[in-house]
Amino acid sequence: MIDIFKGYKGKALEILKQLQVRVWSDALIKTTRGDFSGIILPRSENDDDYHIVLKLKTGYNVGIDVNTITTMKEVGYKEAHYKIPEKEFPTSEDKPNIKLFGTGGTIASRLDYRTGAVIPAFSPGELYGAVPELADICNLKTEKLFAVFSENMGPDQYKKLAVNIGEEIKNGIDGIVIGHGTDTLHHTAAALSYMIQDSPVPIVLVGSQRSSDRPSSDAALNLIHATTAAAYSDIAEVVVCMFGPTSDEYALLHQGTRVRKMHSSYRSTFRTIGDVPIATVTRDKITPIQKNYNKRRKDRKVRILPYFEEKVAMVYYYPNMQPDMIDSLIDNGYKGIVIAGTGLGHVNKPLYPAIRRCREKNIPVFMTVQTLWGYVHMFVYDTGRDLMADGVVPAGNMLPEVAYIKLGWALGQTDDPEEVKKIMLTPVSSDITPREPYNGYLIYQGGIPEVEEFIKKVHK
Ligand code: ASP
Repeated sequence: MIDIFKGYKGKALEILKQLQVRVWSDALIKTTRGDFSGIILPRSENDDDYHIVLKLKTGYNVGIDVNTITTMKEVGYKEAHYKIPEKEFPTSEDKPNIKLFGTGGTIASRLDYRTGAVIPAFSPGELYGAVPELADICNLKTEKLFAVFSENMGPDQYKKLAVNIGEEIKNGIDGIVIGHGTDTLHHTAAALSYMIQDSPVPIVLVGSQRSSDRPSSDAALNLIHATTAAAYSDIAEVVVCMFGPTSDEYALLHQGTRVRKMHSSYRSTFRTIGDVPIATVTRDKITPIQKNYNKRRKDRKVRILPYFEEKVAMVYYYPNMQPDMIDSLIDNGYKGIVIAGTGLGHVNKPLYPAIRRCREKNIPVFMTVQTLWGYVHMFVYDTGRDLMADGVVPAGNMLPEVAYIKLGWALGQTDDPEEVKKIMLTPVSSDITPREPYNGYLIYQGGIPEVEEFIKKVHK
């Protein structure tokens, strides 16, 4: 039998002491699972006593089970100070005035060694200390409205953002940037597209996929691109600004109602769906791809419509879904439902009676497609026709999340089903478009050079 080394017994701190390795030291650790080298981080409050957390050279952290350690050696020592220097933001008269609202998310985060978590820590001075290039672009005012990860954003935050942005616009700001977690950035982008109409200036939402303590962080460049777009573009729309390709060549500006987070970790996670992005942005150039966007204006005639009915649900259909899923929404007082249906917009027959109940109770039901690309077409199969006969309304090529947000916004204004239907089907900011561009589906999915490179490899 092979005698497997069982490692050191005891708590992490005792083992560190025993082997004379300090917290913040650059250590070489050999374990039964491989060798690791990196900086030993202080133990976070929530960690157990039996793991050592190591920041690898890549910037990622790993937890090492002390029982797997065979040897450990200190090769250097470097205490890290993660406090970002606060500096007053310089202003000059010849630069556009931009307001940055912070809501939280990774873009406003750095590692907190107390809890070991990435926490929102956003302050205006810190921002300038961290990304001094921002001062070359604009005069920046910042305000932290919230400090949450984006799963905690919701109607109250959407309304507050819309109202605050409206105030800034009325007071003469040249552009708005919103720092936001990426996970639900597209929901907020949709909400603001409805709640802020006829904006005379760009409203640019930005996030980052990697926090600023990681070497591969996209936080600084995304902020530079977003402030550039807010300060100098003539695109007076609600847009999302994030990496275009996986590399840092350029950012894309995506329409707030046509954008979606499509990858859990790529920096180029945001894609325009059903259309092409509005523009590309580099440090010194904004190049429109589309022509039909609202142009920057001098007037201050913005309309703020901060309405939202919270009793709205989005149901992602799956085979064998039971009608009680819909019945429970009705019984719990939901006032509207968006379904993400299969293919051209379908659900199974057992749901039909529950959907009929919705109509009897004046609960509007809108159909969108899980395929994301393409349109709901409910005339093609009997099943679609039956659903329409039962009151389900096809929502064109509106994305499911966008239809959910729009329905909340519509029901926040009226509970008349006909009026709701009219609001839902009246296009706002390209949420429903007459057709998809022929090149939208493939070409702009990551940047042309990348697609070409990929195709070249395939044809080798
Ligand atoms: N969980 C984070 C959030 O959405 C992720 C990010 O900011 O990218 O708030």
